[in-house]
Amino acid sequence: MTVRRLLEQCPGEPLCDACLAFACSVSLTEMRLVTAAVGHDAPFRRDSAICASCRRQTTTLAWGNGDVLSEA
Ligand SMILES: [Zn+2]
Repeated sequence: MTVRRLLEQCPGEPLCDACLAFACSVSLTEMRLVTAAVGHDAPFRRDSAICASCRRQTTTLAWGNGDVLSEA
């Protein structure tokens, strides 16, 4: 499971580095490198938001334009 594929399956849902690392079975250090790189590629967004998984306000990565979030 890659970060890109994981996020594409839940468009608009922000996930933090820790939850992404857990979901992809990699270390948090590795995941921070991946999210920093992926965050530069549209339509991925790297923002401060509430993680959809652990509900912490933190730096997250999401796929899509955020319409799902604004409707929630
Ligand atoms: Zn999280």
